[in-house]
Amino acid sequence: MREHAVIIAGGGPTGMMLAAELALAKVDVAIVERRPDHDLAGSRAGGLHPRALEELDQRGIVDRFVVLGKKRPVVLFPGAILDKSDLPSRYAYSLGIWQTQIERILADWIDELGVKVYRRCEVTGFAVDESGVAVSLKDGRTLRAQYLAGCDGGRSLVRKHAGIDFPGWAPSLSYLIVECDMVEEPKQGVQHGERGVQALGRLEDGRIRGVITEQSLKQGDEPTLDELREALVLAYGSDYGVHNVTWLSRFTDAARQAASYRKGRVLLAGDSAHVHSPTGGQGLNIGLQDAMNLGWKLAQVVKGISPQGLLDTYHAERHPIGAAVIRHTLAMTALSRGDERTNALREILPQVMRMDGPRKWYGAMMGGLDIRYDVGGDHQLAGRRMPDLEISTPNGPQRVFTLLHKAQPVLLAFGKPGAIDIAPYGDRVQRVDARYDGPWELPVIGEVAPPSAVLVRPDGYVAWVGVGDTVGLMEAMTRWFGPPSSA
Ligand SMILES: Cc1cc2nc3c(=O)[nH]c(=O)nc-3n(C[C@H](O)[C@H](O)[C@H](O)COP(=O)(O)OP(=O)(O)OC[C@H]3O[C@@H](n4cnc5c(N)ncnc54)[C@H](O)[C@@H]3O)c2cc1C
Repeated sequence: MREHAVIIAGGGPTGMMLAAELALAKVDVAIVERRPDHDLAGSRAGGLHPRALEELDQRGIVDRFVVLGKKRPVVLFPGAILDKSDLPSRYAYSLGIWQTQIERILADWIDELGVKVYRRCEVTGFAVDESGVAVSLKDGRTLRAQYLAGCDGGRSLVRKHAGIDFPGWAPSLSYLIVECDMVEEPKQGVQHGERGVQALGRLEDGRIRGVITEQSLKQGDEPTLDELREALVLAYGSDYGVHNVTWLSRFTDAARQAASYRKGRVLLAGDSAHVHSPTGGQGLNIGLQDAMNLGWKLAQVVKGISPQGLLDTYHAERHPIGAAVIRHTLAMTALSRGDERTNALREILPQVMRMDGPRKWYGAMMGGLDIRYDVGGDHQLAGRRMPDLEISTPNGPQRVFTLLHKAQPVLLAFGKPGAIDIAPYGDRVQRVDARYDGPWELPVIGEVAPPSAVLVRPDGYVAWVGVGDTVGLMEAMTRWFGPPSSA
């Protein structure tokens, strides 16, 4: 029986990101993936938002995505296109890039990091005992690990087999999504039918991609060409001579979330933990962020640095984020209806959303830049993402995100060099004596008081803020990075 420290079921975006985080921490991790390669049927997700881009920057790989994508400094709200170019982030835009490209880049990265991928392999079950998990594969093999992460998508076998509830909202609407050619020139752009949105547009290669709300709720992700023609005629009065359909699928506005992201040695991340309508383009983005929240914590537990309880902070921190995204997609779906009352709402609300405060809040929220985890402490920075400041260090000027490339915690000390002693954590936390005289600006909040020191977790969130002293620093180090090595 082959053994690994962690097995990840599912090598989609979330599974690959989690694997990379574990590999960076030198944990023996393997992915079990059903697909023969990372190609997808259809284009699926179409973009990366600011916080996901920042997190990829924290690992030094964001340029691989940026070079292939299209920068869009706007955020869509029903009835309005809002500017977000003034967000205080290096990534004050969303990057238009297809999921296939995203997965290809992530696959190359985990390959470089030496992650073992069992392709064409399917997890069919598992048994948890005191010391680990025995994972059964369809081909009859069994793999063993200390932990099993279910990154196996919305229909997650891992979630079901672990008996984790998946409460939420049953679907009320179904949509067809298609990539095809059309004989006649279709009406392009977004329009609101009585039940919901429909949109047709051209892909880079000149073909048509479309989303059409169906007139009645239908189930099953393999719709027929006749159903597509019927939906086009009802929405546009013509099927535009649709032919050469290379991708036709159906999704709904069902929204569900795992009741718990952890059950003992089993963890859930990405779509296995939360599903919702693609409106707002959030699913892949929050999956990557789940993975970055979980990766370093799981690595520390596996290596015996931190107690298992650290893993509970994964649920505590990420479950509310998933819940908020779900609420948001429900609201956006409601606002996309085309009945008279909703049309009136869609005329009024954009007037509010264009005002500076709501616009900045919405841009930051949709970009994942407004997140605050509960790490204690009064300073506005505590629990928020560390901004990518350009600091002066004994090694010359540096960007903060560069210091996170190895996925290790950093203590940035802005006072007298060498004044903060972190010797008991010298093996785990890099201390960087830094100078920075510019503003500390946070999305939505604005400028905040400069701290004298900040402790930054590997995922780029601030675990502790010093304001002239080191009160609480050792407690924060112990809470997040385990007991001191001399203890
Ligand atoms: C039409 C559409 C548009 C979208 N647009 C956006 C967007 O613009 N932005 C955005 O952020 N998100 C978008 N999404 C959502 C996004 O595609 C998903 O949230 C994302 O793919 C989730 O990644 P994941 O890795 O968690 O799960 P998945 O991508 O579903 O990956 C799960 C993987 O697990 C494998 N697997 C499943 N079961 C097993 C098993 N038993 N054993 C082994 N392997 C298994 C699967 O083969 C798959 O590779 C869109 C989705 C759709 C359908």
